[in-house]
Amino acid sequence: MSNFDLIKEKDESYVAHTYGRFPVAIKEGKGALCKDFDGKEYIDFSSGIGVNSLGFCDEGWVSAVTKQLTTLQHISNLYYTEPCTNAAKLLCEKTGMKKVFFSNSGAESNEGAIKCARKYSFEKYGEGRNKVITLVNSFHGRTVTTLAATGQDVFHKYFYPFTEGFVYAEANNIDALKNALDGSVCAVMMELIQGEGGVMPLDKAYVKEVEALCKENDIILIIDEVQTGVGRTGELFCFQNYDITPDIVTTAKGIGGGLPLGCVMFGEKTETVFGPSDHATTFGGNPVATAGAEYILNTMDEKFLGEVKAKGEYMREKILTMPHVEGIDGLGLMMGIRLSDGIKSADVVKKGIEYGALLLTAKAKVRLLPPLNIRYEEIDKGLEALEKALGDM
Ligand SMILES: *Cc1c(COP(=O)(O)O)cnc(C)c1O
Repeated sequence: MSNFDLIKEKDESYVAHTYGRFPVAIKEGKGALCKDFDGKEYIDFSSGIGVNSLGFCDEGWVSAVTKQLTTLQHISNLYYTEPCTNAAKLLCEKTGMKKVFFSNSGAESNEGAIKCARKYSFEKYGEGRNKVITLVNSFHGRTVTTLAATGQDVFHKYFYPFTEGFVYAEANNIDALKNALDGSVCAVMMELIQGEGGVMPLDKAYVKEVEALCKENDIILIIDEVQTGVGRTGELFCFQNYDITPDIVTTAKGIGGGLPLGCVMFGEKTETVFGPSDHATTFGGNPVATAGAEYILNTMDEKFLGEVKAKGEYMREKILTMPHVEGIDGLGLMMGIRLSDGIKSADVVKKGIEYGALLLTAKAKVRLLPPLNIRYEEIDKGLEALEKALGDM
């Protein structure tokens, strides 16, 4: 049996079957290039779903993480640690947000945000003002509460009873939001570019109106940047493209560069809502993960973010000339390729693997989330594989 067959057999015997996996086992990677157990090479246009923001095993990130790993790998949140405070300071300085709570994942970050919005409202207005408006087609996570927050019916089955208090409004429709806004609402939570929902950007005018409505009614505006955050869209956070000041911003995926880390960032209105024991986690703010985050945040200066935008433009221009491509949605290095001629995104992704590119789907679109420091040679090689895959459709 080949290495791959052995791994697959073991996986099927012992790992819960919650994932439909591709018939590939990745062994190692460097930059945007990885190899399977037969030595076949792939250009990674997926970053482990937006996680490896600096690609595989970036030298600076590895050295920051391993230095911390061999110094102090963990101590409880009962004590101060340096990497956690450094990462929080950088996040605040670079975003204008005021305080940071570290968690371990996107869903957990959103849970923290929802708890904070509800406590803010409870303390100020008392009971009964606890609903959260989210958008139709959104994705906010897999816990029982964040599934309820997710505005897609396919996620609302089996696991009843779901957490109460979520209402869904159509995206980019300000009247729908106004209709949902009554005295029982404490927060609006949304992604600025719906990721899992199909790389669907919100209109700037709509987002500005939502912000104004939230301000007027003292409703907490939560922006879920689990996928769009940490440089992905060419700004450190996507809300900086939209010229808004959210009350809470959540992120995860790219902030750890490959280690499990998420965070909730609080603005002026929300920075003091949580006091000791209102919210906590054992692993959150782990020194190793936050040492990596500190390195990543220091790397993402104006020049770096400018390159993310330039690389996004470069890729868009080339992809638009490829067969069956109708258009591209998204910002920076978050791209959703609209396909024509009834071609299925999953078929393109399967073909992409054959030609040596790791691609993603997002509903009907082919989604690309390359490492943010991908080199132009790597881009060209990955695009070649994408073009071949599209050509076969
Ligand atoms: C991936 C994602 C989540 C969930 O993150 P996990 O780390 O898988 O819990 C939440 N919101 C958005 C927008 C995401 O893309």
